Amino acid sequence: MIQIKFPDDSTRSFKAGTTVLEVAKNISEGLARNVLSAKFNEQIVEASTPLFNDGQIQLYTWVDDQGKNAFWHSSAHILAQAILFLYPKAKLTIGPAIENGFYYDVDFEDHSITEKELEDIEKKFLEFARQNFEFKMRSVTKEEALDFYRRDENPYKIELIEDLKDGTITFCDHADFTDLCRGGHIPHTGFIKAVKLLNVAGAYWRGDENNKQLTRIYGISFPKQKELNQYLKLLEEAKKRDHRKLGKELELFTFSQKVGQGLPLWLPKGAELRGRLEDFLKAAQRKAGYEQVISPHIGNKELYITSGHYEKYGEDSFQPIETPAEGESFLLKPMNCPHHCEIYKARPWSYKELPIRYAEFGTVYRYEQSGELHGLTRVRGFTQDDAHIFCTPDQLDQEFKNVIDLVLYVFQSLGFENFQAQVSVRDPKKPKKYIGDPENWKKAEQAIINAAREKNLDFIIEEGEAAFYGPKLDFMVKDALGRKWQLGTIQVDYNLPERFELNYKGSDNELHRPIMIHRAPFGSLERFVAILLEHSGGNFPLWLSPTQVNLLIVSEKHEKYAQKVLNFLENNEIRASLDNRNETIGKKIREAEISKVPFMLILGEKETKMENVSVRKHRGGDMGMMDLKSFVRLIKEEISKNISNFEN
Ligand SMILES: [Zn+2]
Ligand SMILES: [Zn+2]
Repeated sequence: MIQIKFPDDSTRSFKAGTTVLEVAKNISEGLARNVLSAKFNEQIVEASTPLFNDGQIQLYTWVDDQGKNAFWHSSAHILAQAILFLYPKAKLTIGPAIENGFYYDVDFEDHSITEKELEDIEKKFLEFARQNFEFKMRSVTKEEALDFYRRDENPYKIELIEDLKDGTITFCDHADFTDLCRGGHIPHTGFIKAVKLLNVAGAYWRGDENNKQLTRIYGISFPKQKELNQYLKLLEEAKKRDHRKLGKELELFTFSQKVGQGLPLWLPKGAELRGRLEDFLKAAQRKAGYEQVISPHIGNKELYITSGHYEKYGEDSFQPIETPAEGESFLLKPMNCPHHCEIYKARPWSYKELPIRYAEFGTVYRYEQSGELHGLTRVRGFTQDDAHIFCTPDQLDQEFKNVIDLVLYVFQSLGFENFQAQVSVRDPKKPKKYIGDPENWKKAEQAIINAAREKNLDFIIEEGEAAFYGPKLDFMVKDALGRKWQLGTIQVDYNLPERFELNYKGSDNELHRPIMIHRAPFGSLERFVAILLEHSGGNFPLWLSPTQVNLLIVSEKHEKYAQKVLNFLENNEIRASLDNRNETIGKKIREAEISKVPFMLILGEKETKMENVSVRKHRGGDMGMMDLKSFVRLIKEEISKNISNFEN
């Protein structure tokens, strides 16, 4: 008998050789019907895998990421099967599961796949899926594996196999189709009830542009047709919310080939929006005891050699700028941290003065390949809402909690309600991988976990995900369409204080190294605005909207009164603009709706005479007539719903 332990710590005994599926059945028939894959003693196994040892098991269904992964990995096999059926001469290469679905890279020679052909492949896919083919793994020798693909005349798989060690090679069979594969399948193809092949793209073999270009077919599959329909609707909505499209419509930013790709240009409305985000964070940071600093956009190459950033960014990023007379080399700054270390070093510190918190909206430059650039999310120059905290080991706990408070305040004020945190700690099996005193590491990791617990964060702990220089806490937000974005990082660093020989005088009168915390709640302003646009669809929280109120006059007779209203609003710190074009009021309302201005005031005969305004709310319709003071009260109340002052 073997002892199997479940996630709730209960244990049951089974006969040796019992399969994962039988274990599931033992718990409930319902679970057995839905189990897609499992983890046994830290290894991904399949439903049909027999278990021979004691161990810990976790069963995965569609709701688990691992379940989806097995589902989409298996779907890639069926896609390959359908492709080979329709195109016997096609050469399969690799086909992994990805975050949303799967793809397969195929060499179709010179043939390009049309929309109609995608549909045909899709049909064949479903036809195969319905036949409930089981996935069966088998081990083969390297020679057998090579033989198989020599017969198939597939140079890609041969290349992959040649890189593998003998004895660890496995094939997966389903129906009459065989693929080179490491495993992780669902029990049979019948679980897949719906599939959509989304698009076709070019991809170089092994990602190397010197290699042949292959055809990548992307797809996604689901256990229910309804789920596929929902997903496709979401994709449609995501297209409408694409920040590049909204950025243009709302006149926030633009790009110019002449200025250079990946270098965003902020238009007046975008610059104002960005300024408001900066002011908002600066105000909160001031209360939280941060001080603003400013550092230049370039730094001497030696600075980045000291910090270690030259090693990371140097050769693969923008190349040094040389001075004509002295022959010095300067780099565009890839990170603000080295500059802040030097600011800290400008004078000696006593433990009584710590923590020191330096904040800067620092613009950094990193070379990204042109193919990787994407709107505001992947750019070559961006501004981080950066800050570095220098503290004593005793202060780490409290500082971490304070930073979490600030990050949560940012999320709440900007309407991100759905988020998860990840604590990245050391791999306990590889202590040599990490710099710094193991005792301090332990303390820091515990400080982060305690802080996350105390702040009631929904968080997971990932072993081995810490950087070599310190543990960290990352926030993942889920946007309105359920997509995940990484925002906000808080990172402990033992490395830079060492490299820059930073110190402070302790109560024992000796010099000690401070601990450094890097943190950026937005990450970068560019990326943050992109995420905010896609999350809100351009309907910003009222406090942030570039224009809060649009005044629409019925005819030019009312312009004088409109000016008076405009002044009144401006004096009350409400951002308003006047639409005095010679257009019909209906057209003006429609256009104001498109530009997503939160409030419209309609000013005509009656309003002018009574010195009132007729209020319309974006996506909220008519709110009736009121006097100006009531309107100002209304709008201020709306603003305070979104945002309160940061309390430290
Ligand atoms: Zn497989
Ligand atoms: Zn930093």
